[in-house]
Amino acid sequence: MEISNKVHEAIDGFKLPGELKECIRYGSGHINDTYRLTYETPKGTKRYILQRMSKSIFKKPVELMENVSGVTAWLRKKIIENGGDPERETLTLVKSNDGLPYFVDSTGEYWRVYLFIEGATCYDAVKDDNDFYQSAVAFGHFQRLLADYPAETLHETIKDFHNTPDRLEKFKKAVAEDICGRAASVQKEIDFILEREELTHALYDLQLDGRLPLRVTHNDTKLNNIMIDDETGKAICVIDLDTVMPGLTANDFGDSIRFGASTALEDEQDLSKVSCDLHLFDVYARGFIEGCGGALTDLEIDMLPMGAILMTFENGIRFLTDHLEGDHYFHIHREGHNLDRCRTQLTLVKDMQEKLPQMNAIIQKYK
Ligand code: ATP
Ligand code: MG
Ligand code: MG
Repeated sequence: MEISNKVHEAIDGFKLPGELKECIRYGSGHINDTYRLTYETPKGTKRYILQRMSKSIFKKPVELMENVSGVTAWLRKKIIENGGDPERETLTLVKSNDGLPYFVDSTGEYWRVYLFIEGATCYDAVKDDNDFYQSAVAFGHFQRLLADYPAETLHETIKDFHNTPDRLEKFKKAVAEDICGRAASVQKEIDFILEREELTHALYDLQLDGRLPLRVTHNDTKLNNIMIDDETGKAICVIDLDTVMPGLTANDFGDSIRFGASTALEDEQDLSKVSCDLHLFDVYARGFIEGCGGALTDLEIDMLPMGAILMTFENGIRFLTDHLEGDHYFHIHREGHNLDRCRTQLTLVKDMQEKLPQMNAIIQKYK
């Protein structure tokens, strides 16, 4: 068992019972460094997940961990009330020797330990409709269990994350400054966005007016952030709570549709392949609304399709902003990569706007 000194120091920061038998790199996460620890104890084998939190991405680890602690404690209470198994149906943080939900090592890196969720698997790619449906149920259920959580007490760990009007302002600034001299070559895309300026207020203003409630949103609703039970094939737990923040239900729903119901990859260059698959939209909407189990207001449900349009539009705006600013935020693997990504998103926006009546009809079926 090859363990670096840093990992050793972190393991020693948590007094886990028993004898450490194995420590391996684990999973396929892209953000944190994840390890699986196996201990032999008098009561049998016990496993844990140890994670070094990404320092470059999460600038406020204490606030982040306050969010994770608050949400997991709440979920635990709800799951017990519902007769469920909290150690499988939510993440369980293990306290460090200092009694904190994290450990800071001698170089200032933040680590945390979760109980390992046994008998369940994270899948990286959607293989059939059921996977997409299961993830929808899981993220809907997450909304349901957290429906009465005081969302305003959560830290906004990434400020203005889904403040769409603010994203547009930043975009306009990038166009005006045009530091790379690229604006003229993307006038068509710039016009597309500016013609839809009003759209950026569609959900934001409803939230400001208090007509849409602030909820606990996950903000990284991909398939490999849920665990699927190996026996029943059902989603049992939502994991990866780093981006939990106050927000709108339509954000989580919309982002899932943006990447999960698209017929093409995010950076597809042949735009004729890019559209929103209404069958997949239907599958996800059914699962999500079922999972929410009556916890959403009528207006929140009605606004789910708008969430899909807006999350896609917001991403299109962000990709074009980054292209204009010299690709400093999203990693690129080829020239014009962010422009390609912007184009798929704007193509999807146009397609979704045309399909809005059908999307609304689907939503009403499950209301
Ligand atoms: P991402 O790239 O999705 O942001 P990440 O780096 O933030 O990932 P996580 O999603 O938290 O990392 O964890 C990485 C992987 O480790 C998960 O996909 C899952 O396979 C596994 N994992 C995380 N927590 C647990 C747990 N409590 N029990 C079992 N497996 C877990
Ligand atoms: Mg993850
Ligand atoms: Mg993550």
